[in-house]
Amino acid sequence: MPAKPESSSSCSCGGCGYVVEQVLGKPARARRCDCQQACPRCNETGYTLVPTGASQVAQVCSCRHLDERIEVFNHIGIPAAVAKASFASFKEYSPDHARAKSVADDFAKKFRPDQATKGFLLYGRPGAGKTHLLVAALRYLALEKGIPGKYVEFMLLLSDIRAGFNQNRSHMDILRPLLHVPVLAIDELGKERGTEWERSMLDELISRRFNSGLATLFATNYFLDEGENPVREEPGRMVRTRTPDFAREAESMTLPKRVGERIHSRLNEMCRFVKLDPGHDQRRDGAGAGGLWKG
Ligand SMILES: [Zn+2]
Ligand SMILES: [Zn+2]
Repeated sequence: MPAKPESSSSCSCGGCGYVVEQVLGKPARARRCDCQQACPRCNETGYTLVPTGASQVAQVCSCRHLDERIEVFNHIGIPAAVAKASFASFKEYSPDHARAKSVADDFAKKFRPDQATKGFLLYGRPGAGKTHLLVAALRYLALEKGIPGKYVEFMLLLSDIRAGFNQNRSHMDILRPLLHVPVLAIDELGKERGTEWERSMLDELISRRFNSGLATLFATNYFLDEGENPVREEPGRMVRTRTPDFAREAESMTLPKRVGERIHSRLNEMCRFVKLDPGHDQRRDGAGAGGLWKG
């Protein structure tokens, strides 16, 4: 449990003992709140003495656990744009929002690293808050439970793998840190061009995690079938690809077409699919899913 000195209840951290900072261009970082700077329990030794019968035993102080949880959080790789995303800051603008939040919240609260757990996949148009919920789940797991997670945007991961080839690093050198982490969130699934090589990278990553019983979370802007897929005409919403024609065609494609049937059925085995598409773009309406500009 977080260290909660009596005096901290009025603190802006709400007594949780940590604050998350947003620095543009840098991954999200958490630090101990000022109210936790000098631990009153252990005088900064990291241990407290607990009486057991006639003697005392040294026990790790809860402030140490706090530092460990902060360290775990700082390794997730949360982008600056969504540094402060949490369940508390997620606004339930629609029944879709409420449902998606409860799935993510439930996952994070019930998750146990020693049990194989199904992840979830959020799908719907950009701007609804999918990234926010991925990050909120990773944040909760790290800061409240000390469970490590990683966040990657799939396109950026592919770029890292390609860049690695120029430095004589194999794709496994880049993927390895993602294979064994208890929870991995893969954002912007399907935004890649869908080449055989790209699919093989995705397949290797998620199949290995699936075989190890590890949970993977996903977010994608693509719908599951054409009937659900809204027509998109706004140029600003298009995927960044080489030609506008390709972008328009890609936008109308479904997730099974984007990632291929094989990977799509693997995703079905690994995840609960949850639609987060309230029917209009929160950002355009000025509601703003937590003031964030990612989906
Ligand atoms: Zn505080
Ligand atoms: Zn302490």
